[in-house]
Amino acid sequence: MNAPEVSVIVPVYNEEAGLPTLFERLYSALDAFGASYEILFVNDGSRDRSAAMLREQFARRPDVTRVILLAANAGQHMAIMAGFEHSRGEIVVTIDADLQNPPEEIGRLVEKMREGYDLVGSIRRNRQDSAFRRYASRAMNRLRERITRIHMTDQGCMLRAYRRSIINAINSCHEVSTFIPALAYTFALRPTEIEVAHEERFAGESKYSLYSLIRLNFDLMTGFSLVPLQWFSMVGISVSFLSALFVIFLAARRVLVGPEAEGMFTLFGIVFFLLGLVLFGVGLIGEYVGRIYLQVRHRPRYLIDAVLEDAAAAAARDSGPVPVPVPATELTAAAPETRE
Ligand code: UDP
Ligand code: MG
Repeated sequence: MNAPEVSVIVPVYNEEAGLPTLFERLYSALDAFGASYEILFVNDGSRDRSAAMLREQFARRPDVTRVILLAANAGQHMAIMAGFEHSRGEIVVTIDADLQNPPEEIGRLVEKMREGYDLVGSIRRNRQDSAFRRYASRAMNRLRERITRIHMTDQGCMLRAYRRSIINAINSCHEVSTFIPALAYTFALRPTEIEVAHEERFAGESKYSLYSLIRLNFDLMTGFSLVPLQWFSMVGISVSFLSALFVIFLAARRVLVGPEAEGMFTLFGIVFFLLGLVLFGVGLIGEYVGRIYLQVRHRPRYLIDAVLEDAAAAAARDSGPVPVPVPATELTAAAPETRE
């Protein structure tokens, strides 16, 4: 079996309620579009019936279906990474399993890619999420625009298409805590964006808690920018400058007016403010150091329990990865191969 033109990667985490409809719509959309394709489902350690349902779907359409079963929950971005490493298509499309991104839009992404772009992002038209999520996303988008060199209108939308050269560059990175759209953007030579429809979650709840959303955004900020640390140094410099002026003022006042006796609570106020600032700085450095620690341990980013695929597809893959040039700087930045 030759490599298909399009690989569609779907991370799946406890999505049993929506999977039957996803199968129906995804396969018919791709069949109707007409390009040769494969669909790679990555089960991200689901605890419901998702894995069994993916097995059934593989039995139904083994020609175009491949399933990677991860041994434990590794997170959406790591699940997609596992998919990237197993994908073979020249164009790789990522899509969520919850039908918020309509599968019918994949064709439009692929057509845009055929115009010669190497990365097609997407912007959700009439985003159907809670007001809090929409507002927080807008704020994070704005912050990211300021502190990184990455330009995306809608960083949270995972319906995106990537060319093989970008996938190969990403695969050579082995990043532990990353944000795939941003990482891909750093390798893109000709990126573009299109608007896509957005629907309410078909079934089930969002798999992101507030805590995991915050962690993900920290991955984005720390992974692609040192600006937070630099801002912090600037704040430190300004505070020391102001304190120096204050000390001079107090010394002069002592000589001219006499010793201070009152103002204890003012002092407390100032000290607590500075203490808060210091704790914030330590935490911020901790975010970077923690990620460095995770990275240097070189533990596997995810464990694969099983891969279901057609024997012919496996043979095609094992005949060796397609050599595609990766920019030299990216290759030298890559961690040594330690997985699998
Ligand atoms: N997902 C995953 N692992 C996780 C969390 C989510 O594979 O730990 C998948 C999930 O099944 C879905 C996609 O990532 O296909 C997006 O998740 P969700 O729709 O819950 O996120 P939201 O739309 O709320 O941002
Ligand atoms: Mg969703």
